[in-house]
Amino acid sequence: MKKEFYRGFSLLLLSLMASCSPEASEETVDYTELNPEARLEAAKEMAQEFIMVDGHVDLPYRMKVGGFTLQREALDVSVRTDGGNFDYPRSKEGGLDAPFMSIYIPAGYQERGGAKDFADSLIKMTERVANTWPDKFAMAYSPDDIQKHHAEGKISLPMGMENGAPLEDDINNVAYFHERGIRYITLTHSKDNLISDSSYDTTRTHGGLSEYGKEVVKEMNRVGIMVDVSHISDQAFWDVMEITETPVIASHSSARKFTPGFERNMDDDMIKALAKNDGVIMINFGGNFIDGNYRERTSKVREHIVNWLAENNLSRSDIAAQAYINQYMMDNDPFPSVTVVADHIDHVVSLVGINHVGLGSDFDGVGDSLPTGLKDVSMYPNLIAELLKRGYSKDDIEKICSGNVFRVWRAVEKFATND
Ligand SMILES: [Zn+2]
Repeated sequence: MKKEFYRGFSLLLLSLMASCSPEASEETVDYTELNPEARLEAAKEMAQEFIMVDGHVDLPYRMKVGGFTLQREALDVSVRTDGGNFDYPRSKEGGLDAPFMSIYIPAGYQERGGAKDFADSLIKMTERVANTWPDKFAMAYSPDDIQKHHAEGKISLPMGMENGAPLEDDINNVAYFHERGIRYITLTHSKDNLISDSSYDTTRTHGGLSEYGKEVVKEMNRVGIMVDVSHISDQAFWDVMEITETPVIASHSSARKFTPGFERNMDDDMIKALAKNDGVIMINFGGNFIDGNYRERTSKVREHIVNWLAENNLSRSDIAAQAYINQYMMDNDPFPSVTVVADHIDHVVSLVGINHVGLGSDFDGVGDSLPTGLKDVSMYPNLIAELLKRGYSKDDIEKICSGNVFRVWRAVEKFATND
């Protein structure tokens, strides 16, 4: 009798607690109805709660240029840095957990040689970030690693290789770079290489993927490296769709609908094919990627300023000139806003649903052109708030932050281990 009473009482308590728990109340929150401050607060909480993966951050190359070598740390990203878009404190603020470190090989290396050595040096430098500040950063080779580091409060550093040039002409290098920790390969960069044609190169050396490139895609499937279709030509993309046995990613591409004629972005048919492949397009934040008129607007602003300086016999460094430039830039802001990035996400969702879109900022790679409200890794919550305003659910946000790319990554891992 007494026991029953206590049981009844504790059940009552439990149900009371459940009705007050965040899980229970979430159902009733309509984020579109919140005021902007409350919505931003909700977005910040989600950014912290969910794992956030960014498909493309160019930190290794920024460090290379900034003189971070194996001997010294000229660029200390464990603290707030003056320049650049990425460092530890700002990542923590923005809720970024796993920026894919871009092991970026400029096309020049495929002509003069040394691509493999250069890739190795950038991989070592990335490892050195993790080794130098082990309480803040950790290398990551799988979604499981990232989940573990997230729980420990560390920023994961997974690696993607931008440009397949380091594979040189030896198929065994695919397995070599998997061994070194590379988890995606962007098949080309700005020029055609041995593997594929590039969207930026009009030569069209192979008319898509080369025969060797087709072998490379199969080998990437076999060893468990994600195929990244950013930067390749349209024909190469369609060739990849024919060959790959696993879902693929576009690590940092946006929707061509907003940038007509810009082959570097994906058109609607390609996005539909990518979804059919169960892949994911990770949206690039750069001005040229999200706004077809961005380049024209910035060049007009630049031209006006150059003319004004000449007319007034001033140089950019003069105090009087700086005041004028700042004011003019404010009045004639050429930058797109964070809402434009949300438009790209909306467009992909309207075409193929919520399961095929993610984030691939290109931070530290497109520096000056970033949208207002999305200038560095501390600002993802502004984008999340904009999506909440448009009616995206909490589940949707989680998929965009990491759920979708993890699904692809796990499918690639599974295919490789079953082989
Ligand atoms: Zn790129």
